[in-house]
Amino acid sequence: MRSNAKDRALRERAAQVIPGGMYGHQSTILMPEGFPQFFTQAEGTRISDADGNTYIDFMCAFGPNLLGYQHPEIMTAIQRQQTQIDTSTGPSPLIVDLAEAMVDMISHADWAMFCKNGSDATTMALMISRAHRDKRKVLVATNAYHGSLPWSTPRPGGVLAEDRAHLIYFDYNDPQALTDAVKQAGNDLAGIFATPFRHDTFTDQTLPDAEYAHTARRLADEHDALLVVDDVRAGFRMARDCSWETIGVRPDLSAWGKVLGNGQPISALLGNNRAREAASRIFVTGSYWFSAVPMAAALETVRIIRETDYLDHIQKIGALFRNGLVEQAKGFGFDLRHTGPETLPMVLFDDDPDFRLGYAFCAAALKRGVYLSPYHNMFINAAMTEADIAETLEATGAAFEEIKQNRDSIQPSQLLMAMAEQKRPTTMRQ
Ligand code: PMP
Repeated sequence: MRSNAKDRALRERAAQVIPGGMYGHQSTILMPEGFPQFFTQAEGTRISDADGNTYIDFMCAFGPNLLGYQHPEIMTAIQRQQTQIDTSTGPSPLIVDLAEAMVDMISHADWAMFCKNGSDATTMALMISRAHRDKRKVLVATNAYHGSLPWSTPRPGGVLAEDRAHLIYFDYNDPQALTDAVKQAGNDLAGIFATPFRHDTFTDQTLPDAEYAHTARRLADEHDALLVVDDVRAGFRMARDCSWETIGVRPDLSAWGKVLGNGQPISALLGNNRAREAASRIFVTGSYWFSAVPMAAALETVRIIRETDYLDHIQKIGALFRNGLVEQAKGFGFDLRHTGPETLPMVLFDDDPDFRLGYAFCAAALKRGVYLSPYHNMFINAAMTEADIAETLEATGAAFEEIKQNRDSIQPSQLLMAMAEQKRPTTMRQ
């Protein structure tokens, strides 16, 4: 029997000293009951919670774990750099090495700037788009996540309509909606934000339509605006390049984060020569942006990305997981929708409008040592082996059996039901 006594005690302490007990995307508030909040160990593809329960982790830290937690070569690079210099009065030469490595690897990029979070990189993209020709309007797909700052956070608390006064929303993958949004911007169009594919929560994922992506490029060019691809989530899980290289569209700017240091705090904004002058004119910085240790980790991560077959491997493992799960579900009388790239799988049940089956399934898998998400895309990492997938499928087989037995008594999440009754956060947007 799994214990969660330590996790419960930590939650009680946290509730006293951390607003809401926990905040942001790593709060388990939206997860099914029983999901642990606190973890004490992470290695390879597994995480252990505060009570010592270990899980095969399909969330990968919400992305950063690309090559395996505690990857030996990256750990060696980190430890070596820690003995020399990290956060100091100026950057180390590694910043130049890393900028060169990124420019060499990412086809559209002529320069790189480094920061800490994905939100830093997307906000720099927003500022550079506006600085480029001193224009204001920025187009963003409805419900697309680009970070947690006032212009982009999905929840309304603390956000003013003015924070989004010059954003215009359009439907992802709809060239006509994009064209209409560009018209609405008139001669004030600064930039168009695109995600590599639609990866909104609680929704099937959709890959980009080539016509939509080419329309975005053409409209940006016609208006001397910048095209931004937000690769913070999908980066290096679709290509060893910007994700839109897969459909032949090159942005002016691309935002990176998460996997860049395989979990070390570093993100990046990359750009082409067209955007260089504006990028050199904005003032952006941070106390830790120039720290050398995460850059050492990133250089090693990028080297492994360049030199190994990690991408083929995660594609193969992702396909095994996808095909195995969908087949298995059928055997128990459930139809699963497994959408998006196999390396970033979203798994939703058919005939499950309030997500009760998905929630019960993930709770049942968790009890058997597999950490899945019922509402967010998951992530495959290169440490996962065929044996991990076999072990996963054994657990999910038992989880399907459990929910099949209990199907009539499964209730939806109370919190989800309450949220569904509230207005969708996007209604606050301009
Ligand atoms: N853009 C996308 C597409 C993301 O998925 C995220 C994070 N989930 C961000 C931006 C923001 O990154 P961060 O949380 O590191 O600020």
